[in-house]
Amino acid sequence: MNRQLYGKVIFDLSKPGRRGYHLSGAGCEDTLSSLPASLMRSAAPRLPEVDEPTVVRHYTNMSTNNFGVDTGFYPLGSCTMKYNPKINEEMAALPQFAALHPLQPIFTAQGALKAYYELQSLLSEIGGMAEFTLNPYAGAHGELTGLMVIRAYHDSRDDKARTKVIVPDSAHGTNPASAAVAGLQVVQVKSLPDGTVDVEALRPLLDETVAAVMMTNPNTVGIFEHNIPAIAEMVHACGALMYYDGANLNPLLGVVRPGDMGFDVMHINLHKTFSTPHGGGGPGAGPVGVRAGLEEFLPNPRVKKLEHEGQTLYYHTDEPSALGRISSWLGNFAVELRALAYILTLGREGLKMAGPLATLNANYIKESLRDLYLLPIDRVCKHEFVFDGLADKSTGITTLNIAKRLLDHGFHAPTIYFPLLFHESLMIEPTETESIETLDEFIAVMRDIAREAKETPDVVRDAPHNTPVRHPDDTAAALKPVVTYFQL
Ligand SMILES: *Cc1c(COP(=O)(O)O)cnc(C)c1O
Repeated sequence: MNRQLYGKVIFDLSKPGRRGYHLSGAGCEDTLSSLPASLMRSAAPRLPEVDEPTVVRHYTNMSTNNFGVDTGFYPLGSCTMKYNPKINEEMAALPQFAALHPLQPIFTAQGALKAYYELQSLLSEIGGMAEFTLNPYAGAHGELTGLMVIRAYHDSRDDKARTKVIVPDSAHGTNPASAAVAGLQVVQVKSLPDGTVDVEALRPLLDETVAAVMMTNPNTVGIFEHNIPAIAEMVHACGALMYYDGANLNPLLGVVRPGDMGFDVMHINLHKTFSTPHGGGGPGAGPVGVRAGLEEFLPNPRVKKLEHEGQTLYYHTDEPSALGRISSWLGNFAVELRALAYILTLGREGLKMAGPLATLNANYIKESLRDLYLLPIDRVCKHEFVFDGLADKSTGITTLNIAKRLLDHGFHAPTIYFPLLFHESLMIEPTETESIETLDEFIAVMRDIAREAKETPDVVRDAPHNTPVRHPDDTAAALKPVVTYFQL
């Protein structure tokens, strides 16, 4: 890394008069003279004045300061940070897709609408649902949309007392948050020591005030919820619906379908299971699927296919009885294209391999480290598992210290302090895209950190030592973020 440039923003490198590119303005006179004076600038914009090598070096160096799945292993539990195949990028960047305008006539956008429709159909098949909308922008947005669908369904039956959503204590934080935003009240149900939902604790909570039960399977501790059919039966018997948080679909991909387990509404995170890039807050996509009978509650616009006299037409439509819009148009289209490319390149057989390999990789790491790290739930896991920090608690080394020490070795930290079921949660999800060599390297480093915790604890406590930024002030960064260069 170029130390001279590190920590600078492009404005710091500005020198009056420096140029990397020159616009002559020749040939623009007519356009300029036809603009109304009120739209003309009186002063030049405040832009950095820099030469081309400076710009290239600045941004190239910046791109290596962040950790990314293209630069190293990313075992971030609950996030499914799998490798993003480059062919997906090529497909999404095709000018035929990238240069489209949302409002252009549908007969000029048949390929794009067909891609949308095909992804919608493939996800319906994968999820065991009747129909999907791709419009929501993220998992949390999908949850909100799905819960709005559930509300609309109860409302349509004049069943207005259903104001509660039941979520397990192991649930991802977005579940209760989405329920609250949807205007529903959150009720928690506890888990058993083996990590699965306590069916006997759930039973008395089910009555005519419950709108839905939200669950993820495998749950956030990576354990398969084997009681779903029994739970679904109880939930349906009381008139409520089953919501599937599909963020953890990866290990089940092509093996079992949420629709077949008894879920009525679900979302999928394209930026997790379907390999589209995420991190840093986006972009993502959280398509929502519904079982037969709930399609009319999906948001607009909806993409449909019409076949007539051997001709096929794809089109989008606003349905009168739907929720209305939940996004400005048809979702994050470039993310959808990447997911479609992923599904089509893997094919049916390839998709079916993702889950078993992700499961194998997670269990391999778990079994290779269980003598040094505390394993609170000792079962075969699915795609991820949780350690409760180091087994030897006498060293005083915390999960935070371990996570930061991993950065020195070029590994992204696992998810830490989630789920909230344990004090020192360290949640590891290797995904199927990592080789045995990478897994072995990670295991060796984790073993080494456990040794350091005993022999040279200060080295672990003061980590990271080798990263461009060492110890940022987390609190100040959250409370007083500096997001613009110029003080406004
Ligand atoms: C990631 C995740 C979510 C939220 O998805 P976003 O796309 O980040 O909004 C919900 N539930 C679980 C279990 C998750 O892992």
